[in-house]
Amino acid sequence: MIFSKEKTILAYTVEKCTKCEKLNKRDFVMGDVLFTNSSKCSFCSEVTIIEKIFGQVLE
Ligand SMILES: [Zn+2]
Repeated sequence: MIFSKEKTILAYTVEKCTKCEKLNKRDFVMGDVLFTNSSKCSFCSEVTIIEKIFGQVLE
């Protein structure tokens, strides 16, 4: 991922529960890696995996 130095980019992480398939979007945290285990699902307490990491440019 390439970050521009001139614009502010907010990075987000989308976690997906492996059991109930709920998606949860949260702020990206350093160390987040795609398809690795993340936090626990807030619905069923199953472990979620990181489904997507994306950046949003603030203009
Ligand atoms: Zn779940």
